[in-house]
Amino acid sequence: MRESTERRPQRVAILGATGSIGQQALDVIDRYPDRFEVFGLLSGRRACGRTARYVLRAGDPDCERRVLEMVTDPDCDLVLVAIPGARVLAPTLAALGAGKRLAIATKEVLVMAGDLVMAAAAGPDTLRPVDSEHSAIWQCLWGESPDSVSRLLLTASGGPFWGRPELDLSTVTPAQALNHPRWSMGPKITIDSATLMNKGLELIEARYLFGVPQERIEVMIHPQSVIHSLVEFVDGSTKAQLGHPDMRLPIALGLAYPERLPGAVPPTRFHEEGSLELHQLDEVRFPSVRMCREAVARGAPYPAVLNAANEEAVAAFLDGGLGFADIVAVVASALGAFSGGGTSLEEILEADGLARAHVRARIGKVKA
Ligand code: MG
Repeated sequence: MRESTERRPQRVAILGATGSIGQQALDVIDRYPDRFEVFGLLSGRRACGRTARYVLRAGDPDCERRVLEMVTDPDCDLVLVAIPGARVLAPTLAALGAGKRLAIATKEVLVMAGDLVMAAAAGPDTLRPVDSEHSAIWQCLWGESPDSVSRLLLTASGGPFWGRPELDLSTVTPAQALNHPRWSMGPKITIDSATLMNKGLELIEARYLFGVPQERIEVMIHPQSVIHSLVEFVDGSTKAQLGHPDMRLPIALGLAYPERLPGAVPPTRFHEEGSLELHQLDEVRFPSVRMCREAVARGAPYPAVLNAANEEAVAAFLDGGLGFADIVAVVASALGAFSGGGTSLEEILEADGLARAHVRARIGKVKA
């Protein structure tokens, strides 16, 4: 049975078909028609203009039920989760529960419910990270024993403001924060990159994906975004994965693992890249990484509180209702105000709701 499944093209459902990752995934799928076919698409407000067994738009009547039907359909082989934010948690858990392979670009799902998502994944090739840093760590870990890993080193470009210590972060506008120096991405993740919250969320994501405690995960600033991350081993050796920034590589690996697709991206000419720098992160100027460490050390549901508060704060900043420096401040406020516990899905969703209400109330006060 398995053999015949492997010979035909893998049927892929994409959650987030019109986003940056979704569009690049469609590019990869179209270039390898003997390997993949589009089975289903969920897009946001824009129509994606393609045909498939399922073509769904967020906001359509019955959309939530149809998404669950699509990702659990017996004919679907693999689901690519690429809509930012907590709202794709339910289809993620449903797809894993139905035994589907999952390529996951949505870090928020792992941040808010990492233990539940990892418990729902059936085996080591079921859950494939598409976040570039986590794909890098995943590749460095192939063939290695978990006992031989000493530290994970997550690289961060630093975003648009890391190299501008003279800049007063309270004056930053959405247009400035959306101007990322290296990667072209959606607005939520671009703002998270500017606050460095993205790297804190990625630290939590790595903690759950690879089972390495947060105190053994470091963040290094690497402005060139060529070293995608590193793994240090107990014998003192360090492995890194490198390449010109191009999300089609982690997408191709997420779809084709354990194979590498020939020509998925052009090879990197390292002599053209110039020098590669690594710097320590200033956690005083960018406290978001430390905040994420504390949340994941406390365990569920604190990462969910942090994630929900951050989603609300970023949306308010993009709408002009909150200053840039206030994003991290209101996330800290939501974490400080939360008292409760619980690791079940219900308790996590309740914590998510409380954190969102806290941030909305606080922003209402700031505006008034
Ligand atoms: Mg990343």
